[in-house]
Amino acid sequence: MRLALISDIHGNLPALKAVISSIAEERADSVVCLGDIVGYGARPNECIELLAGERIPCIMGNHDAAVLGRLSLSMMSSHARTAAEWTINKLNIVNQEFLRELPLSLEIESVLCVHSSPNEPEQWRYIFNAPDAQVAFRSFSQPICFFGHTHYPITFTNLEDGRRLINVGSVGQPRDRNPRACYGIYDTVSKDFRWVRVEYPFTEAAKQIVDAGLPSYLAQRLATGM
Ligand code: ZN
Repeated sequence: MRLALISDIHGNLPALKAVISSIAEERADSVVCLGDIVGYGARPNECIELLAGERIPCIMGNHDAAVLGRLSLSMMSSHARTAAEWTINKLNIVNQEFLRELPLSLEIESVLCVHSSPNEPEQWRYIFNAPDAQVAFRSFSQPICFFGHTHYPITFTNLEDGRRLINVGSVGQPRDRNPRACYGIYDTVSKDFRWVRVEYPFTEAAKQIVDAGLPSYLAQRLATGM
């Protein structure tokens, strides 16, 4: 099975549409979304509705949890908090319910999917480096775990047993100095994984952010992938 893994969409509808087209071209058999559907971007309702319409299984991210009141806004950076407050006022009831039903992890064909870390996912820990990954490797047994949260595509391999922790990158707010939307394709038979980068009209997403009255920094960073 060819599995597409998308994460950290953050209300960026032009990026999500481009990625869903790319996944269709890749002929993936299944898609999983690793969370942070909302926050930062200006189209949270539309992104949820697109994922729900495509029947894509999703898990909950920290920004999704924040707009549900499950994570204190004081734990967030000022731009993230401003965007979360804006999103809370924008989300309709149906889409709030969609987010409320999301699990913190899911497993598909021995593949573990989480948003932040398999180690106490509700604590929203970050896996930035090898020491972080070592802690995470102790908390799951599957051969592979996909995650998001840092918006930085990277693979960590456990040298003792070959297990992998792979960050699939961010659809809607890449932070690796590459503005193109990022997602992953994993073949459950060959065990091969690769990232796919997708051009999308980031000026359109940036304009939506500015027009919504969200912080202009959130629009500017889309052009640089920072
Ligand atoms: Zn995120």
